[in-house]
Amino acid sequence: MPEQDKTKIRQLDALIEMAALINSTLSPVVIRKRAIEAATSLLNAEAGSLLLIDNETGELFFEVALGEKGDRVKSIRLARGLGVAGWVAENDEPVIINDIASDPRFYKGADEKTGFITKNMVCVPVRSKERIIGVLQAINKIGGDFDQDDMVILFALANQVAVAIENAFLYKDSITDGLTGLYHHKFFELRLSEELERAKRYRHNLVLLMIDIDFFKKVNDTHGHLAGDMVLKGMGAILKSSTRLSDIVARYGGEEFAVILPYISKQHALEVAERLRRSVEKNDFEGIKITVSIGFCFYEPDDPDIEYKELIDVADKALYQAKESGRNRVEAAGISRSES
Ligand code: GH3
Ligand code: MG
Ligand code: MG
Repeated sequence: MPEQDKTKIRQLDALIEMAALINSTLSPVVIRKRAIEAATSLLNAEAGSLLLIDNETGELFFEVALGEKGDRVKSIRLARGLGVAGWVAENDEPVIINDIASDPRFYKGADEKTGFITKNMVCVPVRSKERIIGVLQAINKIGGDFDQDDMVILFALANQVAVAIENAFLYKDSITDGLTGLYHHKFFELRLSEELERAKRYRHNLVLLMIDIDFFKKVNDTHGHLAGDMVLKGMGAILKSSTRLSDIVARYGGEEFAVILPYISKQHALEVAERLRRSVEKNDFEGIKITVSIGFCFYEPDDPDIEYKELIDVADKALYQAKESGRNRVEAAGISRSES
């Protein structure tokens, strides 16, 4: 077999392997990172990037970029149609450009910002179903020019990336609530049961907060249902921004939210709950003020028989007490034998 064919087969093998790797995760960030790594290594290029289209503005942006120049590229946004990437997205056509300096489509802004010198590139559209969602590009072929085969390989990779992005999107959609973007009830219960098992096995604490907006009916009655929805959305944002990435924040139902805080001391968790309560109280939801009551359930890993539903029960009872005691407060209950 000629050497050239052998190289091609190796490249196809690598493509299949990388496509499988890209499709083995549902994390959008990991997918994007692997897509860029694959584009760079499969095409033997110096750099690669994946630009996605901002649905609202039509701009292309680099969400993940690798290498030392990566961070600087992140702030760049290409207006619709700008640059080679913009042209590819607009025209739904792949391009190979081996003499970039003489191509009028090339946008110098990115190189100026990063100090990177683009010599040649291949850029293909990433399409999911019938829609273009971004472009994938490989930049500066090591030791030569890009050719038609490079483009075919990159195209095949882009199709796999599109499938992976679509799957990640569908998955996220299936576990989150449309209004707030938080996890929905069912997924929350699944996560709570998993976290409880982990807490038991590794003997660490677990805290569950049940958070209910006070007199929310009045918000709807006074300002209308849409304003009520805006408040719920704002509540989701406050809860997300006041907790750690490893905490689990969910919309439990209606105007009720739940937060799981794994690996946390009781004192620290109480501070988190209190901080949440205060953030909501201080916040102005486009002119609407609200407060929340919080039921706090603390699990110490001393009871292997406890079930996650009991944690919810205890937090619910504490929440009820918080309401009874005047609202806008945190009420705590423990699930360890010594405290309940
Ligand atoms: P409390 O302090 O006792 O919790 O009083 P409350 O008014 O908050 O409690 P209640 O359970 O009586 O009312 C909850 C309200 O939440 C009633 C319902 O219309 C509203 N609600 C539930 N889901 C949504 C939603 O998705 N959007 C809007 N705008 N309102 C919602
Ligand atoms: Mg309420
Ligand atoms: Mg309620």
